[in-house]
Amino acid sequence: MATLQLNNIIKQFDDTQVIKGVDLEVNDREFVVFVGPSGCGKSTLLRMIAGLESASSGDIMIDGRRINDVGPAERGLAMVFQSYALYPHMTVEDNMGFSLKLAGVPKEERRRKVGEAASVLQLEPLLGRKPKALSGGQRQRVAIGRAIVRNPKIFLFDEPLSNLDAALRVQMRIELARLHEELDATMIYVTHDQIEAMTMADKIVVLQGGVVEQVGSPMELYHHPCNRFVAGFIGSPK
Ligand code: ADP
Ligand code: MG
Repeated sequence: MATLQLNNIIKQFDDTQVIKGVDLEVNDREFVVFVGPSGCGKSTLLRMIAGLESASSGDIMIDGRRINDVGPAERGLAMVFQSYALYPHMTVEDNMGFSLKLAGVPKEERRRKVGEAASVLQLEPLLGRKPKALSGGQRQRVAIGRAIVRNPKIFLFDEPLSNLDAALRVQMRIELARLHEELDATMIYVTHDQIEAMTMADKIVVLQGGVVEQVGSPMELYHHPCNRFVAGFIGSPK
């Protein structure tokens, strides 16, 4: 059974259909990348999976259960945003533990989970700092740490590296690949950057205008693009 399944998802904002019937299966521990030009509907699709936006129609299934009406906090997912969305007045430790606090997790257990995530992300020396005393890359790590402590079934990333400079982006790509291995997690990653998609994905979903153009491994897309749009976007020689 697929970990996540989308059946004919449609999203309408007023009169405009921005997601036009998307079907998709994401398997356990897969690293899936949604790629496509700005405005094609990547964030909207991710937000519907996260429960931050409702689908106009269609089914969102996790482990075979329809979760359209399940609230975001109960879906077992964690989302990492491009803007990091850290609380400026809280330390790194409190930022990372905040969702656990809201969930009523006792202090000692919070400390342990935050400590584990901090160790995976090499954030231990920074736990007492406030976000303004961190670099962009460190802030992004804290945002990822906040997701890790929740031990989510699926991680959702919306362009998490686009505010970082090129060198740091390369480093974070490697780090995310390592995390994917280490956490044994299912990850869905949104980007408009073809190189990110080609280097990170097990499976790439190419979107254009709210429609899935093609789904496949980087090699499949490169060698057998289904149309000129995919060929042009992925940079294959068709
Ligand atoms: P992407 O993440 O691929 O850049 P988005 O999912 O953000 O694309 O947007 C897809 C389309 O939906 C765009 O045309 C955008 O303007 C539109 N859109 C997104 N959010 C809203 C909203 N809350 N209300 C109306 N239109 C929206
Ligand atoms: Mg977006």
